[in-house]
Amino acid sequence: MKNLYVNVALPVPVNKLFTYIVPDELKDDVQIGKRVIVPFGKQELTGIIVDLTNQSGWHKLKEIKDVLDPKPIISDEMLKLTKWIADYYLASWGEVLKTALPSGTVVESKRIVKLIRKPDEETLSRIEKSSPKRAQILKFLLTGNSEVSIRMLKSKFKFKNIYSIINSLESLGFVEVEKYLPEQRAKAKFEKYIRISKSHAEDLKKLTFEISQLEKSSPKQAEVLVYLINKFKKGETELPLSDVLKTTESSAQTIKKLSEKGLVEIFQKEVVRKFEYEFEEPDKKIELNEHQKKALAEIKKSIESGKFKTFLLYGVTGSGKTQVYIEAIKEVINLGKTAIVLVPEISLTPQIVNRFKKNFGEIVGVIHSKMSVGERYDSWRMIKDGIYKIVIGPRSAVFAPLEKIGLIVVDEEQESSYKQFDTPPRYNARDVAIMRANLNNAVVILGSATPSLESYYNAKTGKYHLLVLPERVDKAKMPKIEIVDMIKERKENNKTSISKLLNQKIKERIDRKEGIIIFQNRRGYSTYIECQDCGYVEICDNCSVTLIFHMAQNHLRCHYCGFVKNVPDSCRRCGGIKLKLKGVGTQKVEDEISHIFPDAKVIRMDLDTTAGKKSYDKIMQKFANGEADILLGTQMVAKGLDFSRVTLVGVISADIPMLIPDFRSSERTFQLLTQVAGRSGRSEKEGEVIIQTFQPEHYIFDYIVNHKTLEFYERELKIRQDLNYPPFTRLILIEFKGENEKDVDLASNEFAKELKSKIHNPIQILGPAPAAIPKIKRNYRYHIIMKIPKQIDRSGKQVAQMIWQLKEKFETRLNSKGVKLIIDVDPQNTI
Ligand code: ADP
Ligand code: ZN
Repeated sequence: MKNLYVNVALPVPVNKLFTYIVPDELKDDVQIGKRVIVPFGKQELTGIIVDLTNQSGWHKLKEIKDVLDPKPIISDEMLKLTKWIADYYLASWGEVLKTALPSGTVVESKRIVKLIRKPDEETLSRIEKSSPKRAQILKFLLTGNSEVSIRMLKSKFKFKNIYSIINSLESLGFVEVEKYLPEQRAKAKFEKYIRISKSHAEDLKKLTFEISQLEKSSPKQAEVLVYLINKFKKGETELPLSDVLKTTESSAQTIKKLSEKGLVEIFQKEVVRKFEYEFEEPDKKIELNEHQKKALAEIKKSIESGKFKTFLLYGVTGSGKTQVYIEAIKEVINLGKTAIVLVPEISLTPQIVNRFKKNFGEIVGVIHSKMSVGERYDSWRMIKDGIYKIVIGPRSAVFAPLEKIGLIVVDEEQESSYKQFDTPPRYNARDVAIMRANLNNAVVILGSATPSLESYYNAKTGKYHLLVLPERVDKAKMPKIEIVDMIKERKENNKTSISKLLNQKIKERIDRKEGIIIFQNRRGYSTYIECQDCGYVEICDNCSVTLIFHMAQNHLRCHYCGFVKNVPDSCRRCGGIKLKLKGVGTQKVEDEISHIFPDAKVIRMDLDTTAGKKSYDKIMQKFANGEADILLGTQMVAKGLDFSRVTLVGVISADIPMLIPDFRSSERTFQLLTQVAGRSGRSEKEGEVIIQTFQPEHYIFDYIVNHKTLEFYERELKIRQDLNYPPFTRLILIEFKGENEKDVDLASNEFAKELKSKIHNPIQILGPAPAAIPKIKRNYRYHIIMKIPKQIDRSGKQVAQMIWQLKEKFETRLNSKGVKLIIDVDPQNTI
């Protein structure tokens, strides 16, 4: 008989698959998309079977040890998608697959195996003959060990293929492997539920009669029954007991009596833990306006035709984009399909989640970074089991194991947080979403008030289809925006970071009890500490960035590596003692505001105040209720929030994002300021926005003040074209980093030399040169940037192949010198 081999994708950073022999006892088990355990060097790794074959050119192969899954865990579609990601972003397929699965799947061995059916003597001896190992396990379970963990069985029996044995016992119906991981089981919650008892539920007439009997003697019991019947008629047959007690204001005693009479049943029900938001909002009936209707009609047409298409939904802030997503998803669900909604982490707010839950109820699954591993795994499983049909989440939600995807929405598609930049695969979830939709013949909606230049260009050139919502809903006007020259303020001796104008506007709003949002894109108190004698600025020991002063802890902290030090008494360079805290963070703004407006209630929302799981919701709730006058914060307050009471937005300094030395910094600044301005005046009352800056002459402000978004884009496109930047080229950033600067310098130069010998016009190679932030976490950083013109490189395959080859050639040598090589395709961050 011919040998059988499998090709396995392993989570190691190399561009190849690994071939293993399938031992006879696992031959029936192997299947593409299942996880296997294989020997790899001295360790064992878990990988995914991506190919079965009868041939292998190589002889000294090892055997796979075990097959983990009874059924494929990765679908065909997911295999295709992850392969594309690996090729495009120069990542290993195994690493991509690992990213696509929840991390809970790694701790499989803690799962519990339960005996659920006992074989009779005859069956047992038959099993013994055909498979002694299976019989051994069964016998062990039969002798008083009816619930044991896989890990325990593994160490007891030392069978290599313990999973495949257990899986076959499960398919024969003798055992059950728990679906929940132990972590979940420990936390699995049971709740008391109530329902009308079965016999009565089948005969409501009789029950109604019983109620009429009860009405006089025990009116409370009757009331509860009426409540249950009404719910029952609406299809809600089982209700949490605590809810019923609360809404009917009845006692446990009442329920007990009903239960004793056999009218209702109380039972335990396991509730799947879900990340719940506490934030609540009043309902609002919505009728789409003409623009929304028009956009929706086009999207619906595509959804119905079942053909892949990408829409760019460009709608000004407050134009009702989310409502269009919701209506489109209704269509998708009606057709029996599913949908993914990607939102940037920062705007995955209770507000947006609640709107989806209100419209779709229990079929909405949320994925969130503050979920525990267990919660994530639960959600993943519920998606896989088809319980959730709509998944909302940040970038990793693009891998949600949904089937029959009809629509993928990418809200705020320009957000750089869609790009994974810290670990491979360095994918952009927006682009992966488009690819995934393509594989599913699905529709994509990229939504934004400030699209990325790339998407705008794609819409302009016809690759995407542009839909426009030019007006705010409910006739709300765009806010009035004013620019304040802070140089002038300084000349007029205003030492605070609040200009006269902003000061006056804040006062007006407080008097009128309207909401205010103040935005400052730096947390901490002061952003640097400077010696007045020599100008030395205190920087981090590990990174080439300034240390930020935090008032509460009275220390300096690095926002890149977390390094902390005490505030020095004297200057490191000249010994001078005139040290001054400079630059303004959110803590300082908070301080200033409470000095100027002692009666105003301010809540600060930044990374430092939202660490707790529910802290974010609480802040939102407070502000929505009007318990605070001013919501002050970083990016967190700039995006996605929809509070109708806000009529003033103040930007403390527009300069910070403008000064970042990245080719996208104008675009980013424009987007950020337009977004934050968009929080103002979202209902009847007209909104105002005050933007403070030390560069009032900057060209960007004219476009922002006059809401001339597309004009700004046209101007920016020209600049990009002149400089050969995206969307006219595709960038590949190659980073070298290590603790010894000389080695990093040398390595990057050697690499560049070889790269340049292989690559020719019109591909441009910039560098190597020290990065704009030359050192982070003790590592020196050098960059090479490749600019690849779009027209010569549709798929990027050739260039990718060549870079992989170079990487493999250089890697061992670089590693021995402690230099790491990182490749970032379509980088969002080039500093
Ligand atoms: P965007 O995402 O474009 O900023 P949203 O979808 O958040 O805007 O809509 C802003 C607000 O307007 C929300 O509170 C939403 O419920 C409401 N809204 C949306 N469409 C309509 C409509 N046609 N009529 C009235 N209110 C609407
Ligand atoms: Zn640092």
